[in-house]
Amino acid sequence: MKRQRQAEQMTVLREMLDLRGAHFTRQRAAVFDYLNRVDHHPTAEEVFLAVKQGLPRISLATVYKNLEALVGCGAASKLTYGDGAARYDVRTDHHYHTRCLKCGRITDLEPEAGKQLLKLIKPPRGFKVEDYHLEVLGYCKSCS
Ligand SMILES: [Zn+2]
Ligand SMILES: [Zn+2]
Repeated sequence: MKRQRQAEQMTVLREMLDLRGAHFTRQRAAVFDYLNRVDHHPTAEEVFLAVKQGLPRISLATVYKNLEALVGCGAASKLTYGDGAARYDVRTDHHYHTRCLKCGRITDLEPEAGKQLLKLIKPPRGFKVEDYHLEVLGYCKSCS
């Protein structure tokens, strides 16, 4: 089952890269696979350290390039906060995050929560809502 899901993810990735004229490579697949296996929205450095175990010759620069290729084809999104390193999220649907103020760890919040909140927050009359961002700040389990 797990293996099947992984195969499906790789097929999807191949198609997404194809549409962008980008190549499907073993390194790209490894980076994508790692993003799918973790839920903490890692930095490029964290991806590098993890992927290096299976692909010892990969460099941090290559990991960066591969992450950007994934973002470029829509297979992942990049989260930047002005401070600290960018983090990468393989989930590209509309959803929200909690962010640790100490270590920067990011976790997902379910989109439904945001929809409920928007009903409570009444925008000014005549304001047409197109999008919104929700971020919950605090300290993660290991930092608090
Ligand atoms: Zn933390
Ligand atoms: Zn996320």
